[in-house]
Amino acid sequence: MSESDAAPSSSENVAAEAAETNQTNNAPEKMEEFAEPDTKRRKISTTVKIIEDKRYKLEERLGGILCCAVCLDLPRSAVYQCLNGHLMCAGCFTHLLADARLRDETATCPNCRVEISKTSATRNLAVENAVSELPSECQYCNKQFPRNSLERHEETQCEERISGCKFSRIGCPWRGPLHESRQHETECTHPNRTGAEVMDALQVMDQKLADERVLYDSIFDLLAFEKITFNDLQLKPYRTDEFVHRLFYETSRFSAFNNQWVVKARINNSQKDPTQSSERDMTYQLILKTKATTTLSIYYIMLKGPFGDMKVQPRIYKHDFSELENEGPYMPLSLPDTAECNRLLAAKTINFRLIMFLSSK
Ligand SMILES: [Zn+2]
Ligand SMILES: [Zn+2]
Ligand SMILES: [Zn+2]
Ligand SMILES: [Zn+2]
Repeated sequence: MSESDAAPSSSENVAAEAAETNQTNNAPEKMEEFAEPDTKRRKISTTVKIIEDKRYKLEERLGGILCCAVCLDLPRSAVYQCLNGHLMCAGCFTHLLADARLRDETATCPNCRVEISKTSATRNLAVENAVSELPSECQYCNKQFPRNSLERHEETQCEERISGCKFSRIGCPWRGPLHESRQHETECTHPNRTGAEVMDALQVMDQKLADERVLYDSIFDLLAFEKITFNDLQLKPYRTDEFVHRLFYETSRFSAFNNQWVVKARINNSQKDPTQSSERDMTYQLILKTKATTTLSIYYIMLKGPFGDMKVQPRIYKHDFSELENEGPYMPLSLPDTAECNRLLAAKTINFRLIMFLSSK
């Protein structure tokens, strides 16, 4: 099948390589070898003010230097470089290779136009390690942590992270910062409710579990399809030229089932001015770009993929694509909350994996 040798197969290798190097961390040794940072450190230790100022500026500057030359974001996984040393994050790198393959051209560095391929481009471990040491801010407590430990902090250590009451299973709706939950739990009235009163809460929970069960069963059914393909894609932001500028996202073309497709996404379903609204969500649409000779019955699922970090819940959508019906409807991207949506908007590009299943019925 022609689709099986497109971008996805190559991206798997990239992901595996990325996992490998996370373990080979030789940064600490290297740091000791350099004399320069020491002298600098001594100089700026004279006043606290200067330390803060300098460090802030240095980090900002390093961020600008170590970012991906294509999407300008700080890379989250592997970093590649062309023969002339221009840096690309793994998402942009696979994207360039896939784009070139679709156009039947050789990929080139967007900066210097030198040819790039899986063999000519190399990893840059120094940059990968340096980026993982750059500070980034915890979304709950606003303190700074090295990037490589931020996720663990936010998920398991931060005292400000949002948690629920331990009696949520019997219906307590309380949610708040973790450090307030102990106080709440001592005062919570839910443990004193009768069995009859907690039945409603249990039923809601049962229903939720049943829904999840349906989702997983459906995924296993889809995995039994004959034709399955996946693509690791990038949504890039664009603005319309209308009087009120609107932000939307689009991927470049990709191939699946011998046809070409794109994915579009938008915020709050193109509400006039999403900045007026505190609630934010994203919806996306799958579009068939080539002429369909027959109706293509497609099931599709969006996942974060190997280069993305979006916290999307798996949801299966289906659309019958034909010559007249070449655009699927805008379907919700199942994000946990507005904060996650805003985090995606803040990034320059959104990496994701789209799995498509072609129904033969
Ligand atoms: Zn990039
Ligand atoms: Zn280059
Ligand atoms: Zn925190
Ligand atoms: Zn409670």
